[in-house]
Amino acid sequence: MSQLENKVFDSKVTRRDLIKVFGASAVAATGLFGASKNAFAKSAPHVVVLGGGVGGSTFAKYLRFADPDVKITIIEQFPEYITCLRSNDVIVGYHTLDELTFNLDTIKSKYNVNVVIDKVIGADFDKRTVQTAKGHTLSYDKLVVSPGIDFKFEDYEGHSKELAETKIFHGYKAGPQTLALRQQLLSVPKGGTAIIAPPQNPFRCPPGPYERASFFAEYFQKHNPTAKVIVLDPKDRFTKDGPFKKAWERLYGYKTDNSLIEWVSGSEGGRVLSVDGDNLSVETMAGTFKADMINIIPNQRAGKLAQKLGLTDASGWCPIKRESMESQIQPGVYVLGDSSIADAMPKSGYSANSQAKVCARAVADTLRGNELGKAIYSNVCYSLAGENYGVSIAAIYEVRDGLIQPKGKSAGVSPITDKPAQPILEAVYQKNWQREFVKDVFS
Ligand SMILES: Cc1cc2nc3c(=O)[nH]c(=O)nc-3n(C[C@H](O)[C@H](O)[C@H](O)COP(=O)(O)OP(=O)(O)OC[C@H]3O[C@@H](n4cnc5c(N)ncnc54)[C@H](O)[C@@H]3O)c2cc1C
Repeated sequence: MSQLENKVFDSKVTRRDLIKVFGASAVAATGLFGASKNAFAKSAPHVVVLGGGVGGSTFAKYLRFADPDVKITIIEQFPEYITCLRSNDVIVGYHTLDELTFNLDTIKSKYNVNVVIDKVIGADFDKRTVQTAKGHTLSYDKLVVSPGIDFKFEDYEGHSKELAETKIFHGYKAGPQTLALRQQLLSVPKGGTAIIAPPQNPFRCPPGPYERASFFAEYFQKHNPTAKVIVLDPKDRFTKDGPFKKAWERLYGYKTDNSLIEWVSGSEGGRVLSVDGDNLSVETMAGTFKADMINIIPNQRAGKLAQKLGLTDASGWCPIKRESMESQIQPGVYVLGDSSIADAMPKSGYSANSQAKVCARAVADTLRGNELGKAIYSNVCYSLAGENYGVSIAAIYEVRDGLIQPKGKSAGVSPITDKPAQPILEAVYQKNWQREFVKDVFS
C-alpha cells in the first residue's frame, strides 16, 4: 500500500493531495474523494434483499448498522407498503389505510440502500444473480429473501384466487382486501351474520382472526346489535384463547343466548370444507352456514417467490439454519419472516423484525470471516379484543436442541385479573408498540 493510500485510510488526505498524484480527471472519474476506505480495497460485497416488507426493510437497515461499506439493494415489487399491523382496525374504522402506508425512501436515503421497484421473477444460484420482470439481472454475494405468505385456496372446494378477489375476501394482505371487508361489514343487514374462518396452523399473525372477530363483535354492538359473528375454526385451541374468551365474556356476552360471538371449534365440526360464493354459504362438518359476509382466511405457505426459487420443503415453508436464518437448501441465501420455518416463533412482524436483526449480524460476520454469535430472538404479539382492551403473548427465544425455543421462563400470556385497568393498559402498550415498531422498520 502506498503512502497516499495509507493516508486515505487515515482519512487525512485532501483533494489537493489526490490530484497531485493521480491528476484531476482521474480523481473525478473514480469518485475517490469522499468515498469510503473500500475505494482502495477489494470492491464491497453486494447483499441483495428480495421483498421490502417488515423482514426485508429491517434487515437492510440493520445490515447497514453492522457494516457501513457493504453494498445493499432491496428489490420490492410495490412502491408503497401497507402494513397488516392495525389493518383489522381499518376494517372497523379505527384507522385509515393512509396511516398504515409506508415506503422505502428513508431506508434509501438515510441508510444508503439501493431501492429497485420491480418484481423478482427468478434467480440463478450458481451464477449468483436475480432476474426481475422489467428485464434486469443483478449479481449478489449474499441473497436475503423475505416475501411473506401465499394462500392455499385449493384446500376449500369452490374457492379460488378469483373468488378471493371478488366476494370471499381474506384481508390477510392489507390494502384493497381490507377496504373490501370494511365495505362488506358496513353492509351486513340488521340481524345479519358475518363468518370468519381462520386457517390451520401455521399461519401469519396467529391472533389476527380472533382480534378481527372481537372487532366485528364490537362494531355490531355499537351499530347493529342483533347481528353476530360466527368463527368457524379448524382448530380446538388458538393463541391467547384464555384471555380472548374472557374478554368475549366480559364484552360481548360470549356463551350467553345473546352472545355477539359464536366460536365453533375443530372438534365441533368448525373446519370449512367448501364455499359457495353465489349463495354466500360454507359447508362444514357441523353443517351448512349461510351468512351476509364470509371472511375465509385460507391455509397458507411461504410466499410465491420462495416457492419459485425452490427454497421451500414438503411443508410449503422454508427450512433455515437456526443460528443465522440461512437457507438449509441454498447456501448463501437467507430466508426471513413468515416464509421461514422458525419453530416456536409465531409468524409475526415482531418475529420477522427480530430474525432480520440476527440475520444482519450473521451476514456481516460471514462477510468478514468472523465466527457467528449466539442467536437470541424475541416476539411480542399484542392484540385488541376491543378498542380499549388488550391481550398479549411474549417470549424470548434461543436455539436449543437444534430448534428455536422459548428461553427459560420467558414465555407468557397476559394475565386474567379482576383489575379493570389491566386490559386497558395492555391496549395502551399495544398502540404505543405499533407506533414505535414501524419506525424501527421503515425509518
Ligand atoms: C390482520 C393482521 C394483523 C397483523 N398484526 C400484527 C401485529 O400487530 N404485530 C405483528 O408483529 N405482526 C402482525 N401481523 C403479521 C405481520 O404483518 C407479518 O408477520 C409480517 O409482515 C411478515 O413480514 P415478512 O417480511 O415476512 O412479509 P411482508 O411484510 O409481507 O413483506 C413481504 C414483501 O415482499 C414483497 N414481495 C413478495 N414477492 C415479491 C417479488 N416477487 N418481487 C419483489 N417483491 C416481492 C411484497 O410486496 C412485500 O412487500 C399482522 C398480520 C395480519 C394479516
